[in-house]
Amino acid sequence: MCGIVGYIGHREAYPIIIKGLQRLEYRGYDSAGIALYDGESIKLSKTKGKVADLKEKLENEISTTGTLGIGHTRWATHGVPNDVNSHPHYSNSGDLVIIHNGIIENYDSLKKELINRGYTFKSDTDTEVLINLIEDVKKNENIKLGKAVQIALNQVVGAYAIAVFDKNKPNEIVVAKLGSPLAIGIGDDEYFIASDASPFIEYTKNAIYLEDEEMAILRRGKDIKIRKIKNDALVDPYVQELQLNLEQIEKGGYDHFMLKEIYEQPSAILDTFRGRLLSNEAIIKMAGIEDNMKRFLAADRIIIVACGTSWHAGLVAEYIFEDLARIPVEVEYASEFRYRNPVITEKDIVIAISQSGETADTLAAIKLAKSKGAFVFGVCNVVGSSIARESNAGAYTHAGPEIGVASTKAFTTQITVLTLMALRLARAKGTMSSSEFRHHLIELETIPGKVEEALQSDAYVKTVADIYKDATNFLYLGRGFNFPVALEGALKLKEISYIHAEGYPAAEMKHGPIALIDEQMPIVVIATKKGHYEKVVSNIQEIKSRKGKIIGIVTKGDVSVKELADHVIEVPETLESLTPLLTTIPLQLLSYHIAVMLDKNVDQPRNLAKSVTVE
Ligand code: GLU
Repeated sequence: MCGIVGYIGHREAYPIIIKGLQRLEYRGYDSAGIALYDGESIKLSKTKGKVADLKEKLENEISTTGTLGIGHTRWATHGVPNDVNSHPHYSNSGDLVIIHNGIIENYDSLKKELINRGYTFKSDTDTEVLINLIEDVKKNENIKLGKAVQIALNQVVGAYAIAVFDKNKPNEIVVAKLGSPLAIGIGDDEYFIASDASPFIEYTKNAIYLEDEEMAILRRGKDIKIRKIKNDALVDPYVQELQLNLEQIEKGGYDHFMLKEIYEQPSAILDTFRGRLLSNEAIIKMAGIEDNMKRFLAADRIIIVACGTSWHAGLVAEYIFEDLARIPVEVEYASEFRYRNPVITEKDIVIAISQSGETADTLAAIKLAKSKGAFVFGVCNVVGSSIARESNAGAYTHAGPEIGVASTKAFTTQITVLTLMALRLARAKGTMSSSEFRHHLIELETIPGKVEEALQSDAYVKTVADIYKDATNFLYLGRGFNFPVALEGALKLKEISYIHAEGYPAAEMKHGPIALIDEQMPIVVIATKKGHYEKVVSNIQEIKSRKGKIIGIVTKGDVSVKELADHVIEVPETLESLTPLLTTIPLQLLSYHIAVMLDKNVDQPRNLAKSVTVE
């Protein structure tokens, strides 16, 4: 995920692009760059850091004149954030230049082919592969840029929003989209390009949102031409009038970043799969595991270290690793582990989970584990973060920037990565038959669609939130794979609404928390089919006898819980090990709506920070 901006017309491009990048910085902020065409040549400047760093560097480095330009603020997926990996990227000849938001899944095989044909690469990015592929096609077939982009994109698997121009044809920018957003602002004899409309809102209210698998050629003084990438069919441009203000646009039309991020989960999970889950071939490809398979297979156990929501994702992973891959797992609070003189051996694998990759306690825990000879595997969202650098190997979640302090998509994408790992190891260890394995892959692939379906409960969850928003305590119960989801649901509520909430394994209720239950007490019970369903139904009976208010999270079509509960929220059916990816959705929505109704600062709750870099 990143922000892209471009301009072609009669105004100076630089001020539009730099301001646009600042507005898009919420989409990515590890590095930034701009390429301008000044009438003679391309002027390009890029740097690791924020857009403000780029501005300072660029204005000393290059002339900022020119009426054509493209800019990028990066959220790295391939290659650490540094100057070289920043966009824009040149092709080998230096004629073409590109900005890209997304992931080219088959970049590795394309890169090998291009290297065989004599291409060289400066960066580690997938994007530089794409621009050289375009150049290769253009040269070999002796065709125009637009056609070359189209042919190249037909060889690409992955997601992209791109803008490309050729210094020898400086009257056009070619743009294309699949899976990542791209808006085109239509002015008088001028075009604006951006990931959302915020960079051009003050210049024009007329915008075209490119659809997936569409490309457009933007020529100075000419009408826009939109085509289907696959079959070259011309598409009638659909120009919309923008209604939103700047802030609403940045939040994608949502009231808060948290809600936006909750709704981004289907695409974030899909991004986590990209290039890894190949269900047609029945394989999972994860370089961090393949390269260290011997180490993983020799491990006596896995120790997971994490804090907060990541610790809950670790607990879900404990159930998944033990169930599927039959590897013993211990899940530790990083802050306790690091000071406990824990027993760690060279045969241990330590998995460190952290959204930011900067969590101080988790970082200290992995340093300790490494000093005792354990192999450390990092699961982080931020590419090139301290934990990613400190780990022996790892896998990124590719969730895109998470702005809301309360984690949502970080949690589900962490579970997704950990599930992919468990499945890969299960296959290698032979703890799953090939048909079971394939079944899991196929089912995992349906999860983004099922998350989408689970999100449809939003309006109903809001009515439930309205009924219980004034409660002073909540209890969350779940069993098995869904016990950690209960903990996470309670944490979400505490974090943003400041209502006291506790999560418990459902069967533990009778060993203490049952004393709290009275007619004032809302109790959220995760009671999906499979997952010890009958036992949970008995727990619900026990709550009912004590007059507690029951909010059941159930599998679609459930009958038994419906008869007992005050409210039921349905989620689609899936394999038991994958249910946390669905049951967590209504719990996120419930805490969100309660916090909004209580007028709390949802995106920046009091006393909390997004990345906890102190112990
Ligand atoms: N995959 C590209 C990179 O890592 C683009 C990432 C983005 O969308 O910012 O450079």
